[in-house]
Amino acid sequence: MAERIRAEIERFVRESPLNRFPDSDTPYFDAPLVGFAAAGDPLFQRYKQIIGPFHRTPEELLNGAATVIVWSLPITQSTRESNRAESVRPSLDWARTRSFGDEFIKVLRRHLVAWLEQQGYRAIAPQLDPNWQALDDPHVGPVSTWSERHAAYAAGLGTFSLNDALITTKGIAHRLGSVVTDMVVGSTPEDRPGVRDNCLFYRDGSCMACVKRCPVDALSANGHDKKRCQSYLYTTLTQELAEQYGTPIPGCGLCQTKVPCEGGIPKGK
Ligand code: SF4
Ligand code: SF4
Repeated sequence: MAERIRAEIERFVRESPLNRFPDSDTPYFDAPLVGFAAAGDPLFQRYKQIIGPFHRTPEELLNGAATVIVWSLPITQSTRESNRAESVRPSLDWARTRSFGDEFIKVLRRHLVAWLEQQGYRAIAPQLDPNWQALDDPHVGPVSTWSERHAAYAAGLGTFSLNDALITTKGIAHRLGSVVTDMVVGSTPEDRPGVRDNCLFYRDGSCMACVKRCPVDALSANGHDKKRCQSYLYTTLTQELAEQYGTPIPGCGLCQTKVPCEGGIPKGK
């Protein structure tokens, strides 16, 4: 079943007209990476300590959950290149990918749930669940009741980075999605890497290119100041660009482009 699910996600990403810029046939996203985690993986229980007790397990999301399906959609090279040229604001293509590409991912989540139901299984997209909540943790800032980055790590898709994202084999510039189902697909990969193995800073203390790219000093050797970053994204940049670009949420992504991990796992020690 893993191969059928992977093939269906790949087909939808390849063929959907919603995965296209408004004025061309160019896609927002390249072919996806798809991973699977066993819903009973003890890591999901540990996330209640690591993220917070509010973070839900697959079983809490779907009674009888067996598998968490996670995909990563790499942002195309041309969009990444357009953002490399920027130093304060995102490029128009980046902003469109952030706004309209995320709408496409919502459609993909719904499509996969419906597809699984057609096969006779139950499924839920945690991010679209009415009980999903964004919360404001007084210590770390914005958090939520389901982290797709953590689900992606559990599924072996990548590892965490200094700027709080996930570095996959296709790099750090991507968007994630996930669905929980009672279909038994397979178990969590045994060769899941260490939590931060793909980031040069955590590997050997070098790099910090993302720190230099951040226009508001939200990054440092201590990590990611989520509150500062989100204020820039959702207040400053949204006020400045939403109307000009015609994108409700322009994003930023400067720390994900023009960096060694932009399009792959960086080489190093
Ligand atoms: S730019 Fe360097 S330090 Fe920053 S996340 Fe990428 S590899 Fe890690
Ligand atoms: S997304 Fe932008 S504001 Fe946030 S940490 Fe990265 S470069 Fe800084």
